[in-house]
Amino acid sequence: MTKVLKGIAASDGIAVAKAYLLVQPDLTFQEKKVDDLEKELKRLDDAVADSKAELEIIKEKAVENLGADEAAVFEAHLTILADPEFFGNIKNEIKNDHVNAEKALQDVADQFIKIFENMTDNHYMQERAGDIRDVCKRVMAHLLGVKLPNPALINEKVVIVAHDLTPSDTAQLDRKYVKGFITDIGGRTSHSAIMSRTLEIPAVVGSNSATTEIKDGQEIVLDGIAGEALVDPSETEVSEYLKKADDFAKQKAEWKRLKTAASVTADGQKVIIGANIGTPKDVKGANDNGAEAVGLFRSEFLYMDSSELPTEDEQFEAYKQAVEGMNGKQVVVRTMDIGGDKELSYLPLPKEMNPFLGFRAIRISLKRQDIFRTQLRALLRASHYGKLAIMFPMIATVKEFKAAKAIYEEERAKLIKAGVSVADDIEVGMMMEIPAAAMIADKLAKYSDFFSIGTNDLIQYSMAADRGNERVSYLYQPYNPSLLRLIKKVIDSSHAEGKWTGMCGEMAGDQVAVPLLLGLGLDEFSMSATSILKTRSLMKKLDTAQMKQLAAKAVTDCETTEEVVELVKKVVKY
Ligand code: PEP
Ligand code: MG
Repeated sequence: MTKVLKGIAASDGIAVAKAYLLVQPDLTFQEKKVDDLEKELKRLDDAVADSKAELEIIKEKAVENLGADEAAVFEAHLTILADPEFFGNIKNEIKNDHVNAEKALQDVADQFIKIFENMTDNHYMQERAGDIRDVCKRVMAHLLGVKLPNPALINEKVVIVAHDLTPSDTAQLDRKYVKGFITDIGGRTSHSAIMSRTLEIPAVVGSNSATTEIKDGQEIVLDGIAGEALVDPSETEVSEYLKKADDFAKQKAEWKRLKTAASVTADGQKVIIGANIGTPKDVKGANDNGAEAVGLFRSEFLYMDSSELPTEDEQFEAYKQAVEGMNGKQVVVRTMDIGGDKELSYLPLPKEMNPFLGFRAIRISLKRQDIFRTQLRALLRASHYGKLAIMFPMIATVKEFKAAKAIYEEERAKLIKAGVSVADDIEVGMMMEIPAAAMIADKLAKYSDFFSIGTNDLIQYSMAADRGNERVSYLYQPYNPSLLRLIKKVIDSSHAEGKWTGMCGEMAGDQVAVPLLLGLGLDEFSMSATSILKTRSLMKKLDTAQMKQLAAKAVTDCETTEEVVELVKKVVKY
């Protein structure tokens, strides 16, 4: 019988492939006495040889994908595997004490780790303790005959099954082999879900039990449109889903025809549909999908893809590449938004009870002005090469905006004085993602050139519901009148000051929300590149005056999300 797992639809598309469980295996073992010493020594040699072969592949892939510096750690692991003293000690213990290889490996590893960890005046040697731990884990897995998963070792088409995927795990997935993924936890706006859309990988998140219900190697049908997975599907089901995949591909081809068309409503009103990107490499996807702007460049991915703070020049090159790639279309770069679920290994922040409510984004930038000023200089220099705008994340108060803007002005003045070319039309705006800021949008609109509504956070903060927690994902309610009222206030406030409002939260590409947002007067819709063309196609069917009425009714008359959805579906013919 086919097992069906339900989750949250995170990225459109259908995948049919074998499951690849990305879960840490149980490495506990039984201590045993052995008589056949030769056999035991051979088991150890084989496990070391297998580990070596595996590490060679991982190292090669790491050099290819991440560069030689990042791959150096695997070289260190290979050196440990070849260490005669280390493995000599293990063999001696097997021979002298007649214990199994697992026990000897564990004992000797513990001794070495202790020695290294005690070298308190030698940080480099202390770090080697971690390498020994990793190497032993690998050898132990081979001794026990269990798989230590590593995406770099995948060489066939798979659907990844994981408890969770961090944004950096997601970034490393090789699209050639990884056809989809399903996780136990996460919501539609957690960053792994957002990245799956950018990468065009079908994904289902928040299934609760994928890692316990699915076994490695089982056949999976992953339906990222409906948000479910079929485990061990029948032949009929597979062909049914292959047909669905085919229909989806045809639908996409139909949308592709709108690639070079402008985004206009049925009554001829023009709006901007832009793309959200994480790195300059995503500009290609934005252009391939007909983006009219980049409404959000999540600059923190430059920081996350690096093993140390990116230099001013490295950042300058990245921003320049993005603005040049967009050929004069606006690129809104958001300054570093670290914190929450986005961490930097080299910038350790104190552990907090509530990271999403903690020291993050502009709060870090205003404290660590060295990092902030470097980023602003890189942005200002890149502004000369295209149409660049800057926005600050997580602004809660007028004072924060003014403080950030003042630092920007200082860096700008310094560069100009030094004779550096800087564009004179850079717009400086802010993310509107904290309810307190939305409530004083009329005040903020006096200082900010534009607003970009970040509904992923605005919803989590106004509903007090963690965006990555599937247990409260029912409170991710983009159509709730409470949220529509906040959005209306933001848009109206900006228009009253002659400014514009965009939206770069996932809601901007939501097909039920788009008619409402149009009716509320949103000027720019920025979304995962893969949602652009279907939104442009929908826009052509909408009449602005009718959507204004619809939105007004939703904002004033409706009580619940469900009522709003019903209202939209009555009026809009999808
Ligand atoms: C948002 O909060 O809606 C947003 C676009 O930013 P991020 O998802 O990166 O927090
Ligand atoms: Mg946000």
